[in-house]
Amino acid sequence: MILIYPPVVKPSEPPPGIAKLLGACNAHGIRCRLVDANIEGILSLLACSNKVPSDTWGIRAVKNVSKNLAALKRLDAYRKIDQYTRAVKDINRVLEMAGADRGVSLSLANYQNKGLSPVKSADLIRAAEEPENNPFYPYFSARLGTLLEEEQTFLVGFSLNYLSQALCTFAMIGFLKQRYPGIRIVIGGGLVTSWMRRPGWNNPFLGLVDLCVAGPGEGPLLALAGAAGESTPHCLPDYGTLPMKDYLSPGVILPYNSSVGCYWNRCAFCPERAEQNPYVRVPKEAVMSDLSMLVERIKPSLIHIVDNAISPALMGAFALNPPGAPWYGFSRITEDLADLDFCLALKESGCLMLKVGLESGDQGVIDAMEKGIDLDIASRALKNLKKAGIGTYVYLLFGTPAETAAEALKTLHFTARHADVIDFLNVAVFNLPAHGAEAMTLETSPFYEGDLSLYRAFIHPKGWNRRQVRIFLDREFKRNPSISAIIRKDPPVFTSNHAPFFLNSF
Ligand code: SF4
Repeated sequence: MILIYPPVVKPSEPPPGIAKLLGACNAHGIRCRLVDANIEGILSLLACSNKVPSDTWGIRAVKNVSKNLAALKRLDAYRKIDQYTRAVKDINRVLEMAGADRGVSLSLANYQNKGLSPVKSADLIRAAEEPENNPFYPYFSARLGTLLEEEQTFLVGFSLNYLSQALCTFAMIGFLKQRYPGIRIVIGGGLVTSWMRRPGWNNPFLGLVDLCVAGPGEGPLLALAGAAGESTPHCLPDYGTLPMKDYLSPGVILPYNSSVGCYWNRCAFCPERAEQNPYVRVPKEAVMSDLSMLVERIKPSLIHIVDNAISPALMGAFALNPPGAPWYGFSRITEDLADLDFCLALKESGCLMLKVGLESGDQGVIDAMEKGIDLDIASRALKNLKKAGIGTYVYLLFGTPAETAAEALKTLHFTARHADVIDFLNVAVFNLPAHGAEAMTLETSPFYEGDLSLYRAFIHPKGWNRRQVRIFLDREFKRNPSISAIIRKDPPVFTSNHAPFFLNSF
């Protein structure tokens, strides 16, 4: 079978989901080929740009595309944010021009079609009916045919995780179904899981998609490939023939998934909870063994633990038995991080940066969200991580149902007070998961028009609506001098995926 990771996703590292599936296929002797159509498609568009721009920026961007791609693979470009920003924006400019003819707003991180919405199944079906209208068509129409001939298979899976991949996924599926009518198509991944966890899900893609898979795909895929009935114990991920040197990062990033779901699984706004995704973790001994083998094989510059939240037990295991390369990932703010010795041990293990979801600087809002965070502990954790030399990427969320302007102001003050111990900030406005428990208690309306939309708009119970939240963020929060200094450091487009390379400790 062939497993494809479709465009468009930030092309900084290989996709971990299909690597896990290849590992499972290897263990059962099933032939499988991985294709990262995201990095291949982006590089192909950048190489074949035949647009002759008329503006100075466009001319410069086309002329320097190879130089800018090379710069993003060298660490020195990450030492000067202006140089890095210019390289990223120039590459985006070339992609923007490549998509413009087809009404597509295209970048290194996004794909938006002016006439087609990724949250409407009818529009996805239309994308499948007109694959030639997709800017990646010249790439995938040549590549997919060759692949099918080489692999002699009629089973193709797509790993669809983000909305930015949806229209391209269906354009590729449409091409395959038109050109090779006997082909069987499977789709899975995070976005497909979210669709299928919606109450009353009914596959609207019959005739195009033969099987939709929610959650881990190993079992259903092995069954399709004829290994039905066999158990699927944890297997070593295999990145196969993915082009590890092509990703836009200074050195190879090894993404690794030690769990699906979340061990906490209580935060009120979290899609993981709304979708009732079960928590399944790889035993920590297996994680250590996997990482040891993968580090030996791939020699990464950085390990990205892609769990929703790395468990304290796994962090403890890393502290005792370092994974062998610098690493980073998402962590909840727990008592452990308020212990300086624990932070020092993490640093010693190679921990470069932790992404932490603080969400609010008001204890009442945090409690209403069931984050399970104590602000005093959060304060000590941030200070200890700084003392230990571990970078922090702090996530804040404004406009939740329990917040008003007063609580938002407390978040501003907490952030400003801790500005010297926060390296990067992600500031977001709250989206209400359409089918979570909270949606039942609020007055809601469609957020995006579309049968596949995952969020709903709501009337804020305290009148703190999105418009007011945005005004507060633009006019107060982001104008605070110590906060704006942090926000200016955020790597454009790649954000947290490239943030570790901006730390002096890297
Ligand atoms: S810790 Fe993160 S992933 Fe886990 S429930 Fe909370 S928001 Fe969701």
